[in-house]
Amino acid sequence: MMDQKERHRRHLAQLKARMESDPDFKERFLKRRRANETARRRANPEKAKAKGKQGRERYRERMAADPELAEEQRKKARERAKDRRQNDLEFKERTNRLTRENRKENPEKFSKWHSDYKTSHPMAARDAVRKWKYGITTEEWEAMFDAQGRVCKICGINHPRSPRGWHTDHVLDENGKVVVRGILCAHCNTSLKSYLTPALLRKMANYVEARGLVESAS
Ligand SMILES: [Zn+2]
Repeated sequence: MMDQKERHRRHLAQLKARMESDPDFKERFLKRRRANETARRRANPEKAKAKGKQGRERYRERMAADPELAEEQRKKARERAKDRRQNDLEFKERTNRLTRENRKENPEKFSKWHSDYKTSHPMAARDAVRKWKYGITTEEWEAMFDAQGRVCKICGINHPRSPRGWHTDHVLDENGKVVVRGILCAHCNTSLKSYLTPALLRKMANYVEARGLVESAS
């Protein structure tokens, strides 16, 4: 004698086997199941809503009880979203648009999020600004600084002469692209004005020399 549970289990096993061996059947079956689900939801939206809410609450409880699993789930979700953004242009544009609209509607929320993020990820924020302003990653910046001996590229001093750190000297090339020329101390960078052509700088050096003015203490 087969009880109901056993019959159900056998039915599921048969269904699974057929789906595995017959992709057409699998597609038809899933399509039908989705259609049934949609019809059920339309027929009784209140019930569907309640069921959805119940499911979300159960999930939330499970995650609250197991922080490790919750972190794992969050990580998986981030990876799925990242993957999809890379492979699905339409999805990427849609999420970008939604984020833009959301930001317009809740500016305080976004600025709070941004300042919280800067506090919790000081390095990431600095890296992002560096990439945005100078077009180079932190690794590239470090490699450049190593190559110039980790001193000012003009005067050779080994500290930045500013509590705010080293200056990244950059100019625009003929295409309007940012090019980093070197890493300088605060004095050298702020003295280097855009109107100072090499010819003018040489004349200035001659002038200072001819007038007998020696360097002021650095
Ligand atoms: Zn310098």
